[in-house]
Amino acid sequence: MLYRAAYILPVTKSPISNGAILVREGLIVDVGTQAALHLRYPDEKVTSFDRAAIIPGLVNPHTHLELSNLAGKIVPKGTFCDWITQVIQLRNQWGALGNRRSVLRGIKECLAHGITCVGDISHDGLSAKILLNAGLAGVVFLEVLGFQENQVTPAILKLKKLLEAFPEHPDILPGLSPHAPYSTSPALYQQIIQLAGTKHPVATHLAETQAEVEFLESAGGPFRNFLEQRGVWEAKWRTPGISPAAYLKQLGVLQDGMLAVHLNQVTPEDIQTLAQAKVNAVICPGSNKWFGRHNSHVLDLLATGVNLSLATDSLASNKSLDMFQEMRLAQQAYPQISPEAIIQMATINGARALGLEHRLGSLAVGKRADLVVISLPEETSLDNLPHYIVDANPQIIKLILLGRQLSV
Ligand SMILES: [Zn+2]
Repeated sequence: MLYRAAYILPVTKSPISNGAILVREGLIVDVGTQAALHLRYPDEKVTSFDRAAIIPGLVNPHTHLELSNLAGKIVPKGTFCDWITQVIQLRNQWGALGNRRSVLRGIKECLAHGITCVGDISHDGLSAKILLNAGLAGVVFLEVLGFQENQVTPAILKLKKLLEAFPEHPDILPGLSPHAPYSTSPALYQQIIQLAGTKHPVATHLAETQAEVEFLESAGGPFRNFLEQRGVWEAKWRTPGISPAAYLKQLGVLQDGMLAVHLNQVTPEDIQTLAQAKVNAVICPGSNKWFGRHNSHVLDLLATGVNLSLATDSLASNKSLDMFQEMRLAQQAYPQISPEAIIQMATINGARALGLEHRLGSLAVGKRADLVVISLPEETSLDNLPHYIVDANPQIIKLILLGRQLSV
């Protein structure tokens, strides 16, 4: 099938006016001008989208699909620990079926917003098969936490079992996720990193709140109370007295390719540490807005050349799983960044972070035919197209997933 549109935005190459994409068996076979592709494939069936642009399927490298049924059920008040308590209480009210429904709801919302690839944090890996069946790509990060020493061995055993049961498919990969420095013991972090080796991507929440900084500096504050109240405080834990990023470096777990999610609370030294470790920075503007936070380090992170991508986080701390919203919020918060760079943060940078850039994240030959068709106002030109995509909350008129047209 030859898909034609007024504009094609390949992301890793210049936009094309009067462009076309040849799709066969779910993959992109050719990208170019309509004139060139008609000449090369004169007998190919054609689908035209007038006054529209085709952009790649969006990549959301950090979400928790299993929390999707918490949408609208939690209010952003109190401390971050109050929020975690609400999430745990509500989550405990539903079983496996509830989890499944929650994942399905999250996937539906992703597709409705043109997201075809996710980095999904999952406590049991259930979402892997559901994502596969739905045709999405991504990494399912098996989440582990435990602050007490006696939790390490059972957590690693559980992880090994989940890895064994994980479906084999090139588009859905298993990753590992030690939850966060305030919830995961040093030994558990280290064993997870060891288990991941070079085989599995790793994601962790890092430097999200001031409370996390306080906890690592002094072993006090809301997280100390939270761990004690839940009866999981570890008396043998030694207060690091340093920042979250420095702490992970000291543990030897800040490794090349790790997805470090949030990074709201980093020092200039931390930024250098993160860049030297070649982590993938993932920031969540919608979640920050929901909590009333702001990440004031994005430009400094970018200046180091670190791979930075945008993500939604979960529906427990965001009003929607919408990467157009994340692009819009990022552009509003950081007007110095070009819209072209913002689009990369919602596509190819996320794909790179997940180790899936050879499969998606741009419109290029050999990649998955995940195409988002958006309608354009008449006055759109090649020059203002990136601005329009980032600023104007464009309407999706068609989603093509692995070459199949879906109604959204
Ligand atoms: Zn998260």
